[in-house]
Amino acid sequence: MVATPIGNLGDLSPRARETLAGCALIAAEDTRHSAVLLRHFGITTPLVSLHGHNERERTPALLARLAAGEHLALISDAGTPAISDPGQTLVQAAAAAGIEIVAVPGPCAAIAALSIAGLPTAAFAFEGFLPSRRGARRRRLGELAPESRTLVFYEAPHRLREMLEDCAATLGRERRAAIARELTKVHEQVRRGELGELAALATQESSLARGELVIAIEGAAAGAAADDPAAAELDRVLRVLLGELPLAQAARLAARLVGARDNEAYRRALALRAADAASDHPAT
Ligand code: SAM
Repeated sequence: MVATPIGNLGDLSPRARETLAGCALIAAEDTRHSAVLLRHFGITTPLVSLHGHNERERTPALLARLAAGEHLALISDAGTPAISDPGQTLVQAAAAAGIEIVAVPGPCAAIAALSIAGLPTAAFAFEGFLPSRRGARRRRLGELAPESRTLVFYEAPHRLREMLEDCAATLGRERRAAIARELTKVHEQVRRGELGELAALATQESSLARGELVIAIEGAAAGAAADDPAAAELDRVLRVLLGELPLAQAARLAARLVGARDNEAYRRALALRAADAASDHPAT
C-alpha cells in the first residue's frame, strides 16, 4: 500500500519510488492519472486499474498473482490508498489469504490537516465524506454531536458552504474548527475560527470553496450540559417534548419554554435523539 503525494510531488518518499519501480505491477485507481506521476519519476512498471467499480471483480486475479509470490503495489489518485479511496477490498482479501501486506506510508490529507488545525489531536474521529444530501447529512451530524473527539471530514468544494451551515446548526456555532485547503499545493491555506464564523466566511470568500478541502472540528465539551444549568434545563424539556412531538417542533417549543436559541435547541434535539438511538432508549 503505497502513499503518493496529495499535491506536492516532493512528497513521494524515496521508499515509495523504489517500491513502485521494483514491483511487478501497480494497481492504480486511475491509470491515466497515475501514469503522469510515474512518468515524472521515470517509473515504467505496468499499471492496472483498480477502482470502486471493479475492485471486487479484479481482486481474485490480483490475489492469484500475490499468492504466486509476485510483489504488487496499490496506489490511489492521491494520498494513502484505502483512506476514502479504493483498496480496502483487496487488502481484506489479501489479509484473509495470509498474504503479507506492507504499508509504505506517506501523505494523507486528513492527518496533514489535523496536524496543523490547532485542535486537540490526542483522539480524533475520521468521518471521510458526509452524506451529500442535506437531510442525511444533518442526521449524521446529529449523531456526531455528542462525540468528544476532534472530528475530521473531507468535503467537495461545491458543498463547503452548505456543509459548514449544517455543522454550525447541529454542532453549535461556537465550536472551533479549521478548514485546510489545497494542502502542499501553491494555494495552500488554513482558516481557523468558530463554525459560525467559518460558515459566514465560506459565503463571503468564494475562493475558500475551491480546490481540495479538509474540515476539522473540535469535539463536544465533555459534560457541557451537566456543568451548565441552562443547558441541562433545555435537555430536560427537550427529552419530554421529543417523546410527544416531531423533532423540529419539539426543538422550537423547547427553545421558547427555556429561552434558548432555536438553533441551539435544534442541535441539542438532534444530539439527544442520536444518543437515544445509539443506546436504544426512547427519548423520554
Ligand atoms: N486517500 C486520500 C488521502 O489519503 O488523503 C483521500 C482521498 S479522497 C477521495 C479525496 C479528498 O481528500 C478530497 O476531496 C479532499 O477532501 C481531501 N484532499 C485530498 N488532497 C487534499 C489536499 N491537497 N488538500 C486538502 N484536502 C485534500
